[in-house]
Amino acid sequence: MDLIRPLAQHIFLPLSRRREGFNTSAIVRELEASQFFSPEEIRDNQFSRIKQLLTDACRHVPYYRRLFDEHGIVPRDISSLQEFEKLPMLTKSDIRDNQQELLSDKYNVGELIPKKTGGSTGVPLHLYWGREATAFKQAATQRHDAWSGYSPGEKLAQLWGADAGHDTLRARLYNFLVTRRLLLDTLEMDEENSLAFVDKIKHYRPRYLLGHAHSLYILALFLESHDIGDLGIRSIISTAEVLTEGERRKIEEIFHAEIFNRYGCEELSMVASECEQHEGLHVCAEGLYVEVIDGDEDKPGELVITDLVNDAMPFIRYKIEDTATIYTTPCACGRGLPRLKKLFGRSSDFLYTPDGRMLSGISIMDHFAIDIPGVWQVQVIQDALDHLHFKIVQTEQFGESSLAKFAETVPRFFGREMHYDVEYVESLPMTARGKYQFAISKIDKPNR
Ligand SMILES: [Zn+2]
Repeated sequence: MDLIRPLAQHIFLPLSRRREGFNTSAIVRELEASQFFSPEEIRDNQFSRIKQLLTDACRHVPYYRRLFDEHGIVPRDISSLQEFEKLPMLTKSDIRDNQQELLSDKYNVGELIPKKTGGSTGVPLHLYWGREATAFKQAATQRHDAWSGYSPGEKLAQLWGADAGHDTLRARLYNFLVTRRLLLDTLEMDEENSLAFVDKIKHYRPRYLLGHAHSLYILALFLESHDIGDLGIRSIISTAEVLTEGERRKIEEIFHAEIFNRYGCEELSMVASECEQHEGLHVCAEGLYVEVIDGDEDKPGELVITDLVNDAMPFIRYKIEDTATIYTTPCACGRGLPRLKKLFGRSSDFLYTPDGRMLSGISIMDHFAIDIPGVWQVQVIQDALDHLHFKIVQTEQFGESSLAKFAETVPRFFGREMHYDVEYVESLPMTARGKYQFAISKIDKPNR
């Protein structure tokens, strides 16, 4: 029996949140109700928040005061979401170049919660959340977690990138009593560490597992190849990377667990996640306004996101550099929150064909990573419009038939004009944050 769980849930966690000054529980209760509001009501609430945010940004944030001035934008004149969607977007380089100017003069920096993101370009962004926004984001995560059955105080195993500064006595005590996480660093997923992690799971017996999509897949392959049976995990939350259909099937099969896919990022926290229907990802629409530019149910569009709660450093129409398709029909679960259908990863992960097509790396990954026998991991680097460089970590099954399958798969997706070579490697480098990248494009988007 798990004796610490009720203590964690009812005593240590509330105490720790009270010390931080966050009233998370009250917000969770509101969000549990508002997820079932009608789509119209949700949109009306979003528009009121947007109006408030624009007025506030114009008054208190030097960057927006200047931007609105330059473009002749008057917040009170914005009368619909359609009009709002014409405002200038905020890019990552805008943030980097205007870090100080983006801060609201309503707050002292000292009272804000600092955030640092790795960013796709490797240049970190320094961000700040207000305290209320932080409480909201905690509460939003808690609501979305609940869809997978997980609630605070439960034991959780986590496959994650390096978490520097985690190993103080105080942090360990906090983890033992409050967050209760068993951590495996995805940068160190070798044989020895993976075995040790599996042993720890068997001993600790968490029912929930959270991790980067591809690391979960690699762990599933590891369990399969070592004939390790059911670990007692009930739900798996996959996040931080795009989860492909093939990876999903394999992870669910090996773990005998249900996957809840999730999309979030350091700068906004929870963006969207699957409910028990597993038909797309519900957006956390009380806190975010998500646009999918020129996208629909089949065609991926660029995501542009407005943070409706963080007025300390407002992100208005933030170009996050990810792409997704959307559902426009209601979900069978009855929640009114809008849904993203599928995530396609960063726009920089797209590959190009000599005959002028664009392919999302993630949409073809299964065909190389799963369908070719003997491939443990694979990465493709496009170094010219008509050349791909594959890096492969092999298993013993890799052989002639694998190469034949390769020779068949490349032209199937890239056309006959595409050349390629294959390099065999011991392991594939993860990004600085412990993430796996299947496709890397080193060429500029071709002009057509
Ligand atoms: Zn649903």
